[in-house]
Amino acid sequence: MMKQRGILVVVSGFSGVGKGTIMKRLTEKYDNYALSVSATTRDPRAGETDGKDYFFHTAEEFQRMIACDELVEYACYCGNYYGTPRKYVEDQMERGRDVILEIEIQGALKIKAKYPDALLLFVMPPDGETLKKRLSGRNTETPEVIEARLKRASAEADGIESYDYILVNDDLEKCVDELHSLIACQHWQVKRNLDFISRVRGQIKEF
Ligand code: 5GP
Repeated sequence: MMKQRGILVVVSGFSGVGKGTIMKRLTEKYDNYALSVSATTRDPRAGETDGKDYFFHTAEEFQRMIACDELVEYACYCGNYYGTPRKYVEDQMERGRDVILEIEIQGALKIKAKYPDALLLFVMPPDGETLKKRLSGRNTETPEVIEARLKRASAEADGIESYDYILVNDDLEKCVDELHSLIACQHWQVKRNLDFISRVRGQIKEF
């Protein structure tokens, strides 16, 4: 079978739901995913590396990237800008790799509008209390930032219907395997296999 163009996968979910851990485990376990590294104007957290976790930029640099059309999408989240660099996403999809964007909901909707075939997934906690505990226990943000992120979570909860599937992050391994299966299924969509179908159909007609 011919190599297909890669699938664009958007993974969103409330702050503290464990998206970062899910992505880390997914890429450890399966090597066919290209994880996009976003640009941001937020300050690095302890342990974060420029170019690996994010490309950390000043507001001026970020504005330049927008002006030069270097971002596929961007959004403001709790006072900082975040955006997806275009080149990496396009190159990797062209090479047939499935590209994962871990982005918030405004960005997700822009991606769906530009790439209607993108798969949109939303990671849910098993319940609200678990989310609050995870976010408060993370020790990477001030109480004010945690408060802002919890408020934002409530707003984002209203947009879940725009996504294709939810994933519940209760058991990490199960969640990662479900994510992998959902992406794998997309490769078998009829519309992604038209050349193969047409070839086999032609061969059968010659019987
Ligand atoms: P954090 O500051 O916790 O790393 O990220 C805050 C939020 O920004 C998360 O919901 C994360 O998914 C989202 N985010 C990260 N990168 C991007 C991006 O490139 N575009 C958009 N729209 N959101 C992003």
